[in-house]
Amino acid sequence: MSDCLFCKIVEGKIPSSKVYEDDDILAFKDIHPARPVHILVIPKKHITSLATVSPEDAPVLGKMLAKANEIAVAQGSPDGFRVIINTGRVGQQEVPHLHMHIVGGPDPVGPMLKRV
Ligand code: AMP
Ligand code: ZN
Repeated sequence: MSDCLFCKIVEGKIPSSKVYEDDDILAFKDIHPARPVHILVIPKKHITSLATVSPEDAPVLGKMLAKANEIAVAQGSPDGFRVIINTGRVGQQEVPHLHMHIVGGPDPVGPMLKRV
C-alpha cells in the first residue's frame, strides 16, 4: 500500500530501529515506547487489521506470535511480556497496518485494563 506508514517502513522509505526481520515479518522499536521494551511486529505484506485477515494470513500471524518470546528476551524482557493487538475503532488502532505490540522490561507492565 503506497500510503501506508508501516509499508513504507518495510520498503525502507521511512527509517526504523529494526530488531528482527525475515521474509515474512519485521520487528522494530516503537517510536514512543510505553515500557522499557516496546517492539512492534508486523507482517511485511499489508494487512489492515485483525478485522480484515483472511484464512491464508494464518501462517504469518502464527509466525508473529511464535517469534515474540525470542524478540522479547533479546530486547531485555527475559521474564515475560505482554502482547497487544489494537484493532479498529473500538480497539483504538492508530496505524492501519496490522501490528503486534510487545511490551515488557525488567518489571511487570501493570494492570491489563481498567475494570468497568
Ligand atoms: P496502535 O495504536 O496500536 O495503532 O499503535 C501504533 C504505534 O505505532 C504507536 O505505539 C506509535 O508510537 C507507533 N509508531 C507510529 N509511528 C511510528 C514509527 N514511524 N516508528 C515506530 N513506531 C511508530
Ligand atoms: Zn501497510
